[in-house]
Amino acid sequence: MPKRIVIIGGGPAGNSCATNAARLGAEVVLVERDVIGGAAHLHDCIPSKAMIATGNARQFLRRVMRMGLAEVGSDVDLEALGERLRTIEGRLEAQTRTLLASQRVDLIHGEATIVDAHTVRSESTAGVTDHEADMIVLAAGSRPRIPDWAEIDGDRVMTTRDAYPPNTVPSHAIVIGSGVTGVEFVHLFESIGSEVTLVVSRQQVLPGKDPEVAAVLEEDFLRRGIRLFKGARATAVEREGDDVVVQCNDGRVARGSHALLAVGSIPNSETLGLENAGVETDQGYVPVDMNLRSNVPHIYAAGDLSGRLPLSSVATMQGRKIAEHAMGALRREHHRLIDYDKAASAIFTEPEIADVGLAEADAFSEGRKVRVTKVPFAASAKAMINDDSRGFVKIVSDPATGVVLGGSIVGRHAAELISVLAIAVTNGLTVSDIHESLLVHPTLSEALSDAAE
Ligand SMILES: Cc1cc2nc3c(=O)[nH]c(=O)nc-3n(C[C@H](O)[C@H](O)[C@H](O)COP(=O)(O)OP(=O)(O)OC[C@H]3O[C@@H](n4cnc5c(N)ncnc54)[C@H](O)[C@@H]3O)c2cc1C
Repeated sequence: MPKRIVIIGGGPAGNSCATNAARLGAEVVLVERDVIGGAAHLHDCIPSKAMIATGNARQFLRRVMRMGLAEVGSDVDLEALGERLRTIEGRLEAQTRTLLASQRVDLIHGEATIVDAHTVRSESTAGVTDHEADMIVLAAGSRPRIPDWAEIDGDRVMTTRDAYPPNTVPSHAIVIGSGVTGVEFVHLFESIGSEVTLVVSRQQVLPGKDPEVAAVLEEDFLRRGIRLFKGARATAVEREGDDVVVQCNDGRVARGSHALLAVGSIPNSETLGLENAGVETDQGYVPVDMNLRSNVPHIYAAGDLSGRLPLSSVATMQGRKIAEHAMGALRREHHRLIDYDKAASAIFTEPEIADVGLAEADAFSEGRKVRVTKVPFAASAKAMINDDSRGFVKIVSDPATGVVLGGSIVGRHAAELISVLAIAVTNGLTVSDIHESLLVHPTLSEALSDAAE
């Protein structure tokens, strides 16, 4: 008898688990209440990056005069932009559905709840069905956190989910929260023509990131006229006529046309019926072991719900690892566990920021001996051709063996270029492995080779 796996949630974690488990011979039921592709496709990664692409195009048009072209119109057409976002999301959903169907995954559009440790109930317009399961995978994701001092109206006071696109281009957007999502929205709003104020609760934009990397972004924001309220915690957001007023704990007040909250997320776990199967939670997240199992061994959790790194790429990998573990497909010696410390991540501002592995600042605070080499893009021919020489490549390696331990890239296409360092970090490659590779000229990746010299 094939193993029967029931998955709750059709985001990156659920979809990846479903296709991989089905490929390995499982009978898979996937229950999704909203859109196949999950919040990642509908609300998070994809629409935010698609809007950033529009903003970047507009910024590029502002620069074309320097490259010998006449200026062209560059106002944002929000209706066309909205249409573009819906088209991308629709295409991705269709593609994912085709993939799931090709693996004979039984796709159910409905709300799932756990009835007992081996039964998941789906409720939809088609009715209520109980699904027997040898294994259950919880991949229900998360949603934006809304603090009790803020009332979201979806128009002037928004979470990220109300901003794809906003009803109007904000004349003055106040972004609350300076983590990855916050700074991406600062970049996005400014690049589509808004004045922007960023409320930063700490003294550094992007708290927790390499200070040198965060400083480049901060400098760029200041150059673009973005106002920074550093060390200020928002305590209230209110509408006053057409204005939105944000009060901060240090007495400062920001007044604008719109406010966007980017203050973290909370897990979608409270209505799953976890208690019916004895699944333990920690602040709503489902703690998992290294094989992504909850305290109930045949119930796994993946993606944002697992409380590990909240990235789509991590969710996808977790989904695959669950499929492999649940299906016993891997011989133990070949089974690689996820090393979250080696996950590459990027911030799609301009310049882009990407990093992987050990950060220089962390090595320093741990008193660890490392070799740090840094090459600015200003020395790159391709950067000159692009008329954009902002940023640098930094590689952190082991001084004794040359093994690449981490790195940061700030600059154009950093999110693509970091893949080279991610492969090196994951596979224990050395700086010589990078430097001995014959790369294309002229490219920005040559700076990686130079930094690896
Ligand atoms: C603004 C923003 C931008 C981001 N950009 C990036 C990025 O560029 N790159 C990146 O790697 N990560 C990015 N992330 C993070 C990324 O979106 C998440 O880590 C990822 O979506 C997590 O995937 P998931 O499968 O756990 O959950 P989700 O994508 O949230 O999917 C979970 C699904 O479960 C469904 N569901 C929940 N409960 C039930 C139920 N009871 N019954 C049926 N279905 C249910 C939901 O409808 C949802 O479709 C971003 C996040 C935000 C907020």
